[in-house]
Amino acid sequence: MKLPLSSTLRMGAYVAKNTLFPPPEWQRDPQSNKDPFPILQPTTNPVGGGVPHPMLRKRFPLVLMLEPLHACNLTCTGCGRIREYEDTITSRVSLGDCLGAIDECRAPVVSICGGEPLMYKPVAKLVQGALQRKRHIYLCTNGMFLPSRLHEFQPDKRFFFNIHLDGLRDSHDLAVERTGVFEEAVAGLRAAKAAGHMVCTNTTVYRETDMDEIRELFSYLRQFDVDGHMLSPAYGYSAVGTREIFLTREEIHEKFRHVDDLFRKFRMNTTPTYVEFLKGNRDLPCTAWGNPTYNTEGWKGPCYLITDAHWNSFEELMNETPWERYGRGNDERCEHCMVHCGYEPSAALGVNARLGDSLRMIRWALS
Ligand code: SF4
Repeated sequence: MKLPLSSTLRMGAYVAKNTLFPPPEWQRDPQSNKDPFPILQPTTNPVGGGVPHPMLRKRFPLVLMLEPLHACNLTCTGCGRIREYEDTITSRVSLGDCLGAIDECRAPVVSICGGEPLMYKPVAKLVQGALQRKRHIYLCTNGMFLPSRLHEFQPDKRFFFNIHLDGLRDSHDLAVERTGVFEEAVAGLRAAKAAGHMVCTNTTVYRETDMDEIRELFSYLRQFDVDGHMLSPAYGYSAVGTREIFLTREEIHEKFRHVDDLFRKFRMNTTPTYVEFLKGNRDLPCTAWGNPTYNTEGWKGPCYLITDAHWNSFEELMNETPWERYGRGNDERCEHCMVHCGYEPSAALGVNARLGDSLRMIRWALS
């Protein structure tokens, strides 16, 4: 199973509860007096047919992107954080505020990212606090500090180390702009598995990515009994100068057109509906409110990628963000965006679902 049964049931109950009884404090939108639940984009013309989903008019988060710091020991070519937050690179979110953000937004899944979270001193306490709150946790790391900090963490079926690997040795080292990082990341991965932890990998696809190399990477990692792989196209952060590495929407369709074998051969954490979207077979609206970001500056809006505001409270993020102004066709910065943090919530919630999608998602969740 993708998640332990208890997490799957908890997630299902959370979605059902929030769909039937959407928290009214997150649905107030000053831009619209007529519609208390405005959505990002209309769904009346999905590619190839489909039905608008009733959940679309109810905003609630599924995954919290929690960034306790933006500092990192690497300067990866495609990363916007170390550039966008250059002025506050030494800032940290206190442990209390991190746990406060988890409580405030109530998302069942917490992705601890950054920056490099293993450079955050109380990170093990943060994981412990999130586990006590019954959250499912992904700690996104480049893996280099794992051997030295592993002893601080207790294995738990709801806690995953999510190790960044963008290719085999030469490609990954090129992407992170330092020789030897691939070997260190794999050493960290092996150490975490040997200590009994759940470990998955996270791969970003750039224009230069050879999808056959991704197949080779996943085959190579099979010997370590990795618990899952996430795959997502890169997004052209305005903060990143190297525009030529990012893909257009058409190029993303081309890259992902022939990835079905990955789902047959490997444990993929990416949902099948989201992959259909990447292939160009589904139209999904951006539901960035399903994947909010909290960092050293507050609640980042509208999404993990674009920063137009930082809000003091989650309620403000939900109610003050003009959601209808974002997404493809509404904002040119969104034109080629197909990243998981904007679209996986739409896939998970069954937006524009077609006959058979639910069955595919259940089969994927149980695989
Ligand atoms: S950049 Fe992507 S995730 Fe962010 S609002 Fe635009 S479409 Fe959504």
